[in-house]
Amino acid sequence: MKLIVTFSRKAGRNPIIAQVVKDTGVLINVERALIDSSEGEAMIDIPDEACALVKRRLSELGASVRVLEDVLDLDLDRCIDCGACISICPQEVFVFDNDWKLVVRGEKCVLCGRCIEICPQRALSQKGD
Ligand code: SF4
Ligand code: SF4
Repeated sequence: MKLIVTFSRKAGRNPIIAQVVKDTGVLINVERALIDSSEGEAMIDIPDEACALVKRRLSELGASVRVLEDVLDLDLDRCIDCGACISICPQEVFVFDNDWKLVVRGEKCVLCGRCIEICPQRALSQKGD
């Protein structure tokens, strides 16, 4: 399960993700992170069964947590099944089915945004945008 964790760095520079690993014993895979002097945002991947525990500990440490599920929207009216998104995606989110129609396996997405930029039909977007 993927979570987006946002935390302030104003209170200090404590390594919040490492702290949660230490406190919970759950191994956390950091998929991407963007951290500046005042705030940090990280996408982490954890086992589904550890979600409640990790979320609770992150909240206790002052972070806000959002569960990422099915994050991409595909506009079927626009998509022409050209396959450009298949080539660019580092996570192998896209595949063709037996009829050469695009299939999106959104649970693998880390929201890098490459496919959204490259799609010639503007058929892809982040849900909620
Ligand atoms: S790049 Fe766009 S048009 Fe091409 S297969 Fe992917 S979503 Fe469809
Ligand atoms: S946003 Fe990135 S990881 Fe997600 S489907 Fe597009 S290219 Fe793949």
